[in-house]
Amino acid sequence: MIALVLLALQQPADQRDHPSYWQQDVAYTITARLDEPSGVLSGAEQIHYRNRSPDTLSSFALHLYLNAFRPGSRWADADSVEGNRRFNDLRDPDYAFNHVRQVRIMGLAVEPIYPFAPDSTVVRFALPRALPPGDSMTVELDWDARPSTVPRRQGREGRRFDFAQWYPKVVVYDRYGWEEHPLYPAGEFYGEFASFIVDLDVLQDQVIGATGVAVCGDPGWERANQNPSRPVEYQRDYYGSRTPSSDGCAGAAPGRKRVRWYAEDVHHFAMSLNPGYRYEGGHFGEVAVHVLYQPGDEAKWGQGVAVDRTQTALAWLDQLYGKFAWPQITNVHRIEGGGTEFPMMIMDGSADQGLIIHELGHNYTMGMLANNEWREGWLDEGFTSFQTTWFWEVMGRPSTYPGTEAQILALDLDRQTEPPSQVSETYKDFTSYQIAIYTRAELFFHQLRYVVGDETMHRILQAFYERWKLKHVDEAAFRAVAEEVSHRDLSGLFAQWLHGTELYDYAVGRVKVIRKGGKSFPPLPPSEWLTRVEVLRKSPGRIPVDVAVIAEDDTAVVRAGGDAEREWVELPTRSRPVEVVLDPEVRTHDWNMVNNRKALRFSLARLFIPIPGTDVYFHRYFSTRSRRDRLTTGLQPTVWYNDAGGITLGYRQRDDYLGRFAQNVGLVTLSTGWGTDNGVTDVNGLFRIRNPLRLQAANLSETFEWFYLEGRYGLTASVEKTSQEHLTFGPIWTRSLTLQWVHPDDFRYLDRGYYDDVGTVELQASTGVSLRTGRSSLSLRFSTGGGLAYNRAGLAASGRSDLDPFYYRGTFEAIGRRPLGGRWSGGARLFAGVATGNNDAAKQRQIYFQGADPLTQLSNPFLRSRGALLVGEDFHYQAPGGAGVRGIDSRVSTGAIVALNLELTRALLTRANAKLFNRASLAAFGDLAQAIGGSAQPLTGDRIRFVADAGVGLRIEHRIGDTRFVTRLDLPVYVSRPELGQDRSAGDDPFEFRWVFSFQPEF
Ligand SMILES: [Zn+2]
Repeated sequence: MIALVLLALQQPADQRDHPSYWQQDVAYTITARLDEPSGVLSGAEQIHYRNRSPDTLSSFALHLYLNAFRPGSRWADADSVEGNRRFNDLRDPDYAFNHVRQVRIMGLAVEPIYPFAPDSTVVRFALPRALPPGDSMTVELDWDARPSTVPRRQGREGRRFDFAQWYPKVVVYDRYGWEEHPLYPAGEFYGEFASFIVDLDVLQDQVIGATGVAVCGDPGWERANQNPSRPVEYQRDYYGSRTPSSDGCAGAAPGRKRVRWYAEDVHHFAMSLNPGYRYEGGHFGEVAVHVLYQPGDEAKWGQGVAVDRTQTALAWLDQLYGKFAWPQITNVHRIEGGGTEFPMMIMDGSADQGLIIHELGHNYTMGMLANNEWREGWLDEGFTSFQTTWFWEVMGRPSTYPGTEAQILALDLDRQTEPPSQVSETYKDFTSYQIAIYTRAELFFHQLRYVVGDETMHRILQAFYERWKLKHVDEAAFRAVAEEVSHRDLSGLFAQWLHGTELYDYAVGRVKVIRKGGKSFPPLPPSEWLTRVEVLRKSPGRIPVDVAVIAEDDTAVVRAGGDAEREWVELPTRSRPVEVVLDPEVRTHDWNMVNNRKALRFSLARLFIPIPGTDVYFHRYFSTRSRRDRLTTGLQPTVWYNDAGGITLGYRQRDDYLGRFAQNVGLVTLSTGWGTDNGVTDVNGLFRIRNPLRLQAANLSETFEWFYLEGRYGLTASVEKTSQEHLTFGPIWTRSLTLQWVHPDDFRYLDRGYYDDVGTVELQASTGVSLRTGRSSLSLRFSTGGGLAYNRAGLAASGRSDLDPFYYRGTFEAIGRRPLGGRWSGGARLFAGVATGNNDAAKQRQIYFQGADPLTQLSNPFLRSRGALLVGEDFHYQAPGGAGVRGIDSRVSTGAIVALNLELTRALLTRANAKLFNRASLAAFGDLAQAIGGSAQPLTGDRIRFVADAGVGLRIEHRIGDTRFVTRLDLPVYVSRPELGQDRSAGDDPFEFRWVFSFQPEF
């Protein structure tokens, strides 16, 4: 007991403030020699370790991180699961390793134990004797380390070496015990704060950047300096009397040199070597800036560009958190793209300002405020992503918050997000890990800033840094500071944003407007009007929500607490209130903002546009406008033609919210009869409700439709469920159920080649799966169901009451595509379809040889009716589907078909950014179909058994607005039964010039 009291007294003052906190004392002395031809760095390492924990230690552990980048490691296996075999297939001498030899602890030889074997990124040793609290020991070992030729943070390429990991590194011992944790693709590092003496023996011409200062020897900067007028700042005396002696730099072999580096209070030591490095220096305050870039980078990194940006980042971070705790920052252009942070060093793939702000920000959140990166990656990645966004806002750039928020919302709605506070390798995949710890965690910091305000947020960051710099931090440490500075209980916010993925939805409930002078109690303040607003919380998420009352001449805003399901707030205004708006700045992550407004005055316009705030616009056909904070309604006139109604005029209205909800369509048309003989004059319409907000459910889509369209009426109801375990790989499943009733009513519009005079009611269940790897894809779709045909005389397809009106209808389709090397690619489609009962199904439900059945084309005004623009006498259009024998007449159908479509394409040009003609390719194709059973065809008088075609085609892909489409021209020069050909008048030679056109791909 007394011993414990004495121990407590020995602790420095700041640790007495946080009695449960302690960190171990570690000092490394490393001598290492690089053999460039083999890429191997060989070292001798001495670790002085003092146990400042309250526990007696019986073991000791080291990270050997380079062993992740070799076959059989947990990293390599995790990659392979996601189809990324970058390290599992590497061979000697390309893979990385870190071997330890002759390990002596307390002067005695010890045997290595690899607790995660076959992974060897952690090695453990039993201590020769227990190490009680306060006691210290020395660990000595020799090792060999080689980076991999496939870079991932570390790497080597010729004479370039990015030694991000290289030395055996002490595993943190904290209140959870030894933090032994293998290295995975998801998750980064965790280290003990330590001092490092590193003696590096390398070839004379190497240029070196490293953590720490070069206390003696030549890092090569002078010779590489691109700005000789500015002398190099070595800071050799930065550490004053604690600086190790300069004797470590003498005695190098001819052609080689020795450089001694020293650093204090860092939990990692990184370095990068390249004899070609160009050097430029600068500083911010007392912090030296060293930039090392590649030959050829002169314009993008040189002439002070990278130095300026690094200084800018230091200045921003200095005012944001406080004074940088280390002597220098080295910014190097590494082998790999992207960027990774290390104490006093950032390895960047470019000199982009945002990247530098992000990575240098990590010197604060990760470097000096050292979180356990695999346990709480959000505390460094989310944090530095947040401060980068704040930087750009301060610099006057448009905020990236709206984009980040919308991205996370879409994933939340699909239940694709996981909470940020999760051990890194337990995320379902690498993408999910990244979305959680970078993007969703960034949003957490934005929400905190929204809740406490900018000024308080700034004070939180400063207090957090002041209290915890050069220590290990975690959520509790950050939350305690945030609560203390803001004087708020933030437990709910932290719980929801770090440990859950709740949806948020606030809505305006009842509103009461009281005019001064009316009966009000308590008496009104000196303003004319008081608006009482009921704020409803309709989803589990809770966050304070701003309530605004917009009045004729002024606006009032209060913030509601957001916890209660119903909460009343009062807002005084000087003028008459016009509208109530919740969350006008879009900061609450509210998934449904359509219910966030209420109009307080009558207006005629609201009879037509009932939801306040609706953005009404002219729809330009190819792009539907979508907004985060309100419903959109696009209006468009339409016009088309068919032989019955003649010129048909219409008015269409399309709604949208978030690009996924309320995708309703209203259409009213008038057939004028103009331009045709015996024209029909008719008023038609279609009303579709798709994905109503009230039916929101993850990955579920619902459609309800009523139509009276050009001689047929009916209803459709459909639900579809999509499921996808992983966002970037693996299968996507869809399941759907559709009920459709179609009643042909006016045969002046209908081609009897497609329709029998019967109505059909049909239910279909379908399931499909698609899988994509690289540019190869495979999809399967199966549907099964049946229906009932009836006519006015009764339930009969033929009008004969003795026939069975019930029919079965099912289809199976498999489509595969893959690149064949160079500009070639191939595709195949296998199709089988059945639509039959005792007789063939009604004509409109049969399986078509050429393409889609008529009901599939119901929503297309250019296809559905007799003489429409794409089905005119001389126009050969193919709507893909059915057996896909594109060269034959589109009216030919039967009860059951099996078909195969083959296509070989060769790309002619690809222009990724072009709108029209962004890709063109030539194709050769062949289609084969075999009918099974069926009755005699009116066209030929016999049953069709086998039909095939072959030819060549041209496909050109385009993009207008948000719409992508293809113009496809196929020339089926061979048709096995020419009398069935598209252009029957062409003769009866199987080889003829024929053509067919489409706006859709062949399959
Ligand atoms: Zn980062």
